[in-house]
Amino acid sequence: MGKIRHVLGISGGKDSAALAIYLKDKYPNLDLEYYTSDTGKELDETYQLIENLKIYLGKPIQILQGGEGSHLDPFDHFLQSYGGYLPSSMSRWCTKKLKLEPFEKYVGDDLVVSYVGIRGDEDREGYISKRTNIQSIFPYRQNIWSEDVISKFFNSEIDKAIALTDNVDLGNKKSRFIDTLAKQVTPRYNQQSKLNDLFTNGVKETNYLVFEFLKTTTYPLAQESDFPLLDNEDVIVRDDVFRILEESGVGVPAYYKKIDFEVEGKKGQYSRSRSGCYFCFFQQKIEWVWLYEQHPDLFQKALEYEKDGYNWNQKESLSELIDPNRIKQIKEDYIKKQERSTSVKSQYLLDILDDSESEGCAACFI
Ligand code: SF4
Repeated sequence: MGKIRHVLGISGGKDSAALAIYLKDKYPNLDLEYYTSDTGKELDETYQLIENLKIYLGKPIQILQGGEGSHLDPFDHFLQSYGGYLPSSMSRWCTKKLKLEPFEKYVGDDLVVSYVGIRGDEDREGYISKRTNIQSIFPYRQNIWSEDVISKFFNSEIDKAIALTDNVDLGNKKSRFIDTLAKQVTPRYNQQSKLNDLFTNGVKETNYLVFEFLKTTTYPLAQESDFPLLDNEDVIVRDDVFRILEESGVGVPAYYKKIDFEVEGKKGQYSRSRSGCYFCFFQQKIEWVWLYEQHPDLFQKALEYEKDGYNWNQKESLSELIDPNRIKQIKEDYIKKQERSTSVKSQYLLDILDDSESEGCAACFI
């Protein structure tokens, strides 16, 4: 069996960038390979972030591009092959062709552990690949394991799961772990409830049990004798990510910076909430306005893609969106949304304001 590869995809967003920094600092012996999938349509700030990271990491970041050998850049190459059919949330050929397929080609048949920067304050699973030679790990979360691993663990025979407790030093918590492992997952006591109970018994110990279970499977980590993240109890949330980026000197991409605007005497702030292509159809209306006002050249390019009845947004074209009255309405709506959000008490206020962050896919926006 060949060596396991440990890979980390840099999307150009804050979370994956901070993850690269976090893992380098905390686990310097983890031999990570870095890659980024370039669509050819990122903002300059994204390319700058990748350059800054390269310096900090002291390692190359492999650039993956779909449509190799084409005279067009990756996005335009595939757009042409799709006859000008713009991608949308319903038909997301761009993620498949520009992110997932180049990644799977890069990995080949190797056994790979892929580190994904979904934060501890997010409630989503990152889809990277369904290939069995690729295993995802989520270092920012209390639960570093992917959903499929936990599901297999809990669906394994209970006697066998309990037998694993003999291989892990559980001290005086052993009987508690056995009691929890003995509980059947049912609609009322679901996988998450059982996992929560295990973590309440002990996070590290649960990780060691899952690792023991993995040894009975064909997951990539089954080949490793040890895995340093088993001892990790950190939970990294949004503020931590900004702190990691600032403290490292790599910096936060400029497009996250809030810019003041005023409409009808009311003040608001806008920015872009994510990395990815400048024309990404996942962006909010206010982000399109931000693009129009802050990067008019890129907005113009995005507008030029809209032809033959294809638009980036289902309900309105970009030319309709930049009608002055429409811009005013979008800004007013956004201010109202900000005001509603500030009246909600939340420890993660910024996440409510940027709730669009949870849309889209792990491959583009982490
Ligand atoms: S950023 Fe948006 S447009 Fe670009 S590849 Fe990802 S989903 Fe598609």
